[in-house]
Amino acid sequence: MKDVETKVPPNFVRNIVADDVKSGKNGGKVLTRFPPEPNGYLHIGHAKSICLNFWLASEFGGLCNFRFDDTNPGKEEMEYVDSIMNDVRWLGFDWDERLYHASDYFEQLYQWAIDLIKAGKAYVDSLSADEIREHRGTLTEPGRDSIYRNRSVDENLDLFQRMRAGEFADGEYVLRAKIDMASPNINLRDPVMYRIRHMDHWRTGGKWCIYPMYDYAHGQSDALEGITHSICTMEYEDHRALYDWFLDNLDVPCHPQQIEFARLNLNYTVMSKRKLLQLVQEGYVTGWDDPRMPTLAGMRRRGYTPVAIRNFCERIGVGKRESLVDYSLLEYCVREDLNLKAQRVMAVLRPLKVVIENYPENQVEQLDSINNPEDAAAGTRKVPFSKVIYIERDDFMENPPKQFFRLSAGREVRLRYAYFIKCVEVIKDEKGEVVELRCTYDPATRGGDSPDGRKVKATLHWVSASHAMDAQVRLYDTLLNRADPSEEKQGLTFKDFINPDSLQIIDAAKLEPSLSGAPLGSMYQFERLGYFCVDQDSMPEKMVFNRTVTLRDTWARVKKAEGIKQ
Ligand code: ATP
Ligand code: MG
Repeated sequence: MKDVETKVPPNFVRNIVADDVKSGKNGGKVLTRFPPEPNGYLHIGHAKSICLNFWLASEFGGLCNFRFDDTNPGKEEMEYVDSIMNDVRWLGFDWDERLYHASDYFEQLYQWAIDLIKAGKAYVDSLSADEIREHRGTLTEPGRDSIYRNRSVDENLDLFQRMRAGEFADGEYVLRAKIDMASPNINLRDPVMYRIRHMDHWRTGGKWCIYPMYDYAHGQSDALEGITHSICTMEYEDHRALYDWFLDNLDVPCHPQQIEFARLNLNYTVMSKRKLLQLVQEGYVTGWDDPRMPTLAGMRRRGYTPVAIRNFCERIGVGKRESLVDYSLLEYCVREDLNLKAQRVMAVLRPLKVVIENYPENQVEQLDSINNPEDAAAGTRKVPFSKVIYIERDDFMENPPKQFFRLSAGREVRLRYAYFIKCVEVIKDEKGEVVELRCTYDPATRGGDSPDGRKVKATLHWVSASHAMDAQVRLYDTLLNRADPSEEKQGLTFKDFINPDSLQIIDAAKLEPSLSGAPLGSMYQFERLGYFCVDQDSMPEKMVFNRTVTLRDTWARVKKAEGIKQ
């Protein structure tokens, strides 16, 4: 495993595994797996599962397999396969040569289906999908037997073999497990094991036209790999009885223990791949890697780091109760990591021109600026200062309220790493809008302190106008404007909660020249504004930056308000 420290926080899954290792169950061995279906990109919820499985394995001297659950041709694509492997590696985990596919087991699964038919425990049904649904019953009513339920073993074998041979059309027949149509657990009411689908599969090509259902393939795939602990999310709790039934009725090499935990939900976003696909296909976002998406690809492009995501997964813990995690915790983890790593630079998003009247024309000073106060080794750099600079429009107010300490007419402030300046004149255009400030500077305050002990209440960032580089800056807000989009009341869907202001583009931000040539993906703190990274759309002549996260720490406030200690 690469740079991933083992740190499974105490949780009930870990306790079960620890007890099993102690008691010598499975010979003290631990083998977990991460089993994505390649029908979309991985999201932050998957990261929770990836961390849990890989961390458990590594803590107990075991391994974690990587398996594509590829039983569903038609929804699965190579693009997803590639992105999923890339994202797991990016997150910092490695499966070495242990890359598996449910499709590796198609032949074995087929043979096991034959075994069940021969044992009178599976039958070919001719009911349509709708009829099967209708026969299934409800939570309060038992299901009804299909009239084909008592076909002879020979007839079932014949039909199933012909299903495989391609003699029938999609939907004409299915293979069902023969369990109990009156079971209180609907999953046990003769679930479908195989359906006919005349469709090529990305790995097996045209070899098969019947495909196993996920519920039939999943547990046996685990058993074939010798998985000891099959960890999945709560929605599979009711399926466990079915997985156990298959494992108990088939000659499998082992019986993995399934443990369910609560999936991660984050507020102000959606996590299901089906919904994320809708956002992509219907153009609400630019793609799976849009920086507003909760996908790992989107978060990477936004500037989130693997360390931050892993720390988040550690902090949220693992339990059985569904909850909605506050997005600000994730942002807190991102800031915490970037604070240590990101070089500080100065950039002005909404420029206001400032002319320093008493500064010599054509003079340029190279001022020493600290790259990262958290990391002395990051050193210093020179930032050019000259007569005309830009400051942030928001840092000036003509008629400031009492609490506003930044620049206003007659007031003195500090320019970071430079001088004290004082505003002596405000220039407006014909509409009355402030277009320029005239200031004076005090040469004795070079570096930012006054020898006479004079104090100022604000320090502003700035950029020298003639040295500034223009860049596009993209500011992001939450994808949804509703904390819990599952509150889909009155016929509303999550799409009704899409935040129309989730992306704001600033086309002519002014950046200090040291940023010229910054490589794609590199991360910075723009002083006072937040953390930013170079987007993949960036070009040498027109750089593009994403705001990863603001500096404002809302999580600290939430923590304080809710009395959370962490
Ligand atoms: P989705 O509901 O987002 O479409 P899925 O469960 O269909 O996800 P899979 O590719 O089957 O996606 O998931 C692979 C693994 O990741 C599974 O073990 C699943 O339980 C886990 N997983 C998926 N979503 C979450 C989540 N939100 N939190 C924790 N684990 C998750
Ligand atoms: Mg799934």
